[in-house]
Amino acid sequence: MTAIGLWVASGRHAPGWWQAWWLALALVVIADPMAPWRPGVWLSFTAVAVLILAWAGRPRPRGVRGWCLALLRTQWLLAPVMAAAVLLAFGRLAPASPLINLLAVPVVGSLMVPLGFFGWLWVGWPTLAGWAWAPFDLLARGVAAALAWSAQVVPLWQPAAWWHWPLALALLLWALLWLLPGVAFRLRVWFSALLLVSVALLRVPLLPPGTLVVTVYDVGQGQLVELRSRHQRVLVDTGPRFGSGFMPLSLLWPPGQRFDAVVVSHSDRDHAGGVPALRARHRVNRWWAPRGNTLGLPSRPCVAGETWQADGAVWRFLSPPPEAAALPRNDRSCVLLVTLGSRRVLITGDAGVAIERHQLLPQLGTGRVDVLVAGHHGSATSSAPSFVATTRRVRWSSAVVAATPSATPGRRWWRVFGRWAAASGTPPTTAPYALC
Ligand SMILES: [Zn+2]
Repeated sequence: MTAIGLWVASGRHAPGWWQAWWLALALVVIADPMAPWRPGVWLSFTAVAVLILAWAGRPRPRGVRGWCLALLRTQWLLAPVMAAAVLLAFGRLAPASPLINLLAVPVVGSLMVPLGFFGWLWVGWPTLAGWAWAPFDLLARGVAAALAWSAQVVPLWQPAAWWHWPLALALLLWALLWLLPGVAFRLRVWFSALLLVSVALLRVPLLPPGTLVVTVYDVGQGQLVELRSRHQRVLVDTGPRFGSGFMPLSLLWPPGQRFDAVVVSHSDRDHAGGVPALRARHRVNRWWAPRGNTLGLPSRPCVAGETWQADGAVWRFLSPPPEAAALPRNDRSCVLLVTLGSRRVLITGDAGVAIERHQLLPQLGTGRVDVLVAGHHGSATSSAPSFVATTRRVRWSSAVVAATPSATPGRRWWRVFGRWAAASGTPPTTAPYALC
């Protein structure tokens, strides 16, 4: 693109700026047909399109002051468009980027690009090429260090997903307002102020009253379920921590999330593995975990009968029983039942068939359970036929699919899967499920 840009700038038998833009895009796509699938390509071409809109037909800046003002104007017009594009492509914003670009753009554009050209021209003469590549290398390291330093001083902002489109739209409107020719200065100022006020007034969209959204995250061998109502956000389990130390939870949300309650069903690594990431990156108001756990959390014990109410829903633990100390660790799992009107959601952790029969069934009665996360990841140690038969009007059960006990599930796992699929009438799935 730089070579074509230089051709246009030379003015000799050269195409127009937009023709050059299309020509460069065509050449990139011909050379690498997969290029359109890379966000970097679109970010670059968007930036150049903004520069053409901003500067085509304008007189060339004069003197140092003229070039400094041109640089400021370029950043003023370019920064909001690029911020919107980066926000939509990567879900993050770099607040320091307009300031950093004031320094980086002249260094890259005026020094590194010409040095790079000379380096390639002299590719047949390594000594001569080295004279260009050595300072290029020095500058590249300097720019990289400056970028790393700025990211430390002003960290990246990862806004929640609901921010992305409204904020990107506001940024694009802002850019258009200042980019399009013929718009009166006063109008630009007034509409810019209006956009700022609109963004300041944005509020988190609340779920409608009487709604509960259950999301079973596919975190591999482990469990992580999120339940959201109008004002409540609750997690049941935190997913696994793998041998490498990687915790899938750390990739799910930007830092700074707030959870009203987190229930860690038991201490096993596939359920409690994400606790360190959760504590380091987010805020939890209340922890629940079974008595005698080894988590070291400021948790309240989940005991059968413990209940709280929020947003018209009743959140109740059905297990473990108070005298659970002698039970195996899986059977001490916190089992949570959420009742909203006539709808019920049941998450049983890794509780086994004995708990299902003697502890859960008597409390569940014969009523239907609408959403049920199958126990112990669909393992045959849970999901007893009598339990499945009693809750057989279950419409959806997830964990059978959400996490398998191994990469190749065995015959017993498939038997449990078939049991739930037959009872549910639909194939079990991890898709988000809304209760209204
Ligand atoms: Zn487990």
